[in-house]
Amino acid sequence: MKSRGPMFQRVLAGVVRSLESVPEQRKGSNTQYEIVDAGLGAFGVFFIQSPSFLAYQRHMEKRQGRNNAKSLFGVERIPSDAQIRNLLDPVDPSHLRAAFWEIYGQLQAGELLEDYKQVGGTLLCSLDGTGYFSSQKIRCPNCTVHVHDEQEYHSHMVLAAVLVTPGSKHVIALDPEFITPQDGHDKQDCEQQAIKRWVKRNAEQFEPWGVTILTDDLHSHQPLCNLLSKHEMHFIMTCKTDSHKALYQEIELLTRVEGAVKTMTVREWNGRYGKLHTYRWVEQVPIRAGAKALRVNWCEVTVVLEDTGKRLYHSAWITSHELTKETVPEVVAAGRAHWKVENENFNVLKNRGYRLEHNYGHGKQYLSTVLLSLLLLAFLFHTALHLSNLQYQAIREELGPRRTFFNDLRALTRYMYFESWGHLLGFMYEQLELAPG
Ligand SMILES: [Zn+2]
Repeated sequence: MKSRGPMFQRVLAGVVRSLESVPEQRKGSNTQYEIVDAGLGAFGVFFIQSPSFLAYQRHMEKRQGRNNAKSLFGVERIPSDAQIRNLLDPVDPSHLRAAFWEIYGQLQAGELLEDYKQVGGTLLCSLDGTGYFSSQKIRCPNCTVHVHDEQEYHSHMVLAAVLVTPGSKHVIALDPEFITPQDGHDKQDCEQQAIKRWVKRNAEQFEPWGVTILTDDLHSHQPLCNLLSKHEMHFIMTCKTDSHKALYQEIELLTRVEGAVKTMTVREWNGRYGKLHTYRWVEQVPIRAGAKALRVNWCEVTVVLEDTGKRLYHSAWITSHELTKETVPEVVAAGRAHWKVENENFNVLKNRGYRLEHNYGHGKQYLSTVLLSLLLLAFLFHTALHLSNLQYQAIREELGPRRTFFNDLRALTRYMYFESWGHLLGFMYEQLELAPG
């Protein structure tokens, strides 16, 4: 693995370029420069996971005439929380898209995504919607409004895109698609529109047939399958019985024909007990009723305890990948990796210290979407550093829970000055006595 390269500087430069591409919102000599500072300042708060990071750095600037917001993130003049809110609220978050793809490009170039290439050598990309804001009081024009028990709720939804791989808990955040109230009448409708936009906008970022899109059952329908094929993307999508009645009728019929539905059982021994994975699959079944139905490949897995026969897991998928004895376990493992978008992405973002909107509030235009983009970028940064930097890996491993790592980052940057991210990392590495020999 390539490592030690100045990944941090290279990817930070991408964020700076993205912020510099924001057109000036109002007349004034240094607005552009203020927007960059505001963006980098908020980014620093999310990266350090400290709502007080900028306040501490203002303090340090007063005492020492230097500060970590400048040395680590390039913030020239530390903006106040109110300035950040005012400067970022009018910024359309689409300006930040390029930064995600630039980091993705860096990871590609460093051959750091090889583990994410699975079925047929394709990258596994999970797409899933989630809410990231909900309130009865606070609102903006981009809020989705729904009424429940005569109460109005205002919320924001986003379609998150992350690269996942069965063997790793590291997910790689890609450019998200914001779900807007104009997208449709209900939550499902909105998410389906957003996924189509994401595909059309981003398909060209990948090699033809170089990515497999993973989705839940909500999206496993003909229009999206057709769209993905048109854009030369593979898919593996959850396929439930009640939403795919015609497909399951066909499988039911084929089950009566000997050998039409292939089956295979694989035993897994974990050192203490055995599990049996029973795969069933069939190729070229119609995804829905009607003459124009697309034909897709279908597979399922049932996992039971060897001793008792107790069922541990069951799920089924449709896919564009060829299904054979060799490929079915890979396709199933990829399908099962889809949950990581929920577990490793949303959960980390919501519950593990990336407290969105803590300082800045909701804004009147784009603020909450810009902040979410910066937060996702900070999350992606940490993953990119983990994948590329041996010192970073050693420190994270030594410190155990991620909370400990961020507690240390917060305290160190509050009390001490570091010339650069490399110096900060080097300091932790040395103090923890992690250097080999
Ligand atoms: Zn809103």
